[in-house]
Amino acid sequence: MPRPISATIDLSALRHNYLLAKSRAPGARALAVVKANAYGHGLMRAVAALAGTADGYALLEIEDAVRLREAGLREPILLLEGAFDRDDLGTALHYSLDLVVHETRQIDLLAAAADRARQCHVWLKINTGMNRLGFAPAAAGAALARTQALGCEVSLMTHFADADGAGGVSAQLATLAAALPNWRGPVSAANSAALLRFPAAHGQVVRPGIMLYGASPFPDLQTAAELGLRPVMTLKSRIIALQQLASGDRVGYGGQYQAAAPGVLGVVACGYADGYPRHAPSGTPVSVDGHRTRLIGRVSMDMVTVDLTDLPHVAPGAEVVLWGAGNPADEVATAAGTVAYELFCALAARVPVSECGLP
Ligand SMILES: *Cc1c(COP(=O)(O)O)cnc(C)c1O
Repeated sequence: MPRPISATIDLSALRHNYLLAKSRAPGARALAVVKANAYGHGLMRAVAALAGTADGYALLEIEDAVRLREAGLREPILLLEGAFDRDDLGTALHYSLDLVVHETRQIDLLAAAADRARQCHVWLKINTGMNRLGFAPAAAGAALARTQALGCEVSLMTHFADADGAGGVSAQLATLAAALPNWRGPVSAANSAALLRFPAAHGQVVRPGIMLYGASPFPDLQTAAELGLRPVMTLKSRIIALQQLASGDRVGYGGQYQAAAPGVLGVVACGYADGYPRHAPSGTPVSVDGHRTRLIGRVSMDMVTVDLTDLPHVAPGAEVVLWGAGNPADEVATAAGTVAYELFCALAARVPVSECGLP
């Protein structure tokens, strides 16, 4: 018998979440962001769930984009960091991949590409305040003129730094408008947070990522359930042992947790080598046999320990949901001082993954 841990990916939930994104940005096309192996959910699996539904896809690993084309996908595929070198650019043009162009060197590569006569669609990225990728507003006009002169179809793009927070998007939207005041073509700016909070940021193309996977982009403002999102990844395991604790007993490496009263703990077959965050403290929510309880003691490589004192019926073999349906990933992430994005992406290769929800 294999170790009892596994992850289940609910494909119908993923499709539901995509359609919810579409319904919240009704005038826009929505590129499903499937970078980082679809946020840890499995690229081909995610794309299969969205087949015939998604307007297009966005990712940044060119080998994954090629896999999608070779699997027969015909929708637009946007490379979010563009081409890294000449070979990449050749591959992108050959496979009709849309390219972000965020710096002068990428325009130079395009200018030098022998076969750019093939249709190229460039997303000129303007740095409106995130200060990660993109042309400075003052350089945007020249970059636009140069790309257009190459015969490429051009759209504009920017990325928000604080669409999920107090900063919002209005300053960055104003910077974008001021950088290219005569622009009337397509604009893409919104990630999940901006899609849900700021209709003014929708433009023609939105780029939802985290919401597709059923987590809230701003869990302190609105939970995923309140937004109507359904969990996609559920990480499950089982109780493999029980320990009776006397008052004063310590638990796990470092003896960090000390029982204040007699109690019972359960040992779960899941640890940081499975992708569970090592820094999750005592108190992090866990669901055991459908009941919410909490982590106690330090997370180790292959196991965590949970408080079963108030769940006397639980026996070895009981099902544990580390995150997902019945134990929101956002709550686990918040307790562990991180975000659901990181939990999903960190799911380890040793965890078997299965899928449910679609024929
Ligand atoms: C990852 C990413 C997104 C999606 O962001 P979410 O917060 O997951 O919705 C959108 N645009 C760009 C450029 C990205 O890198």
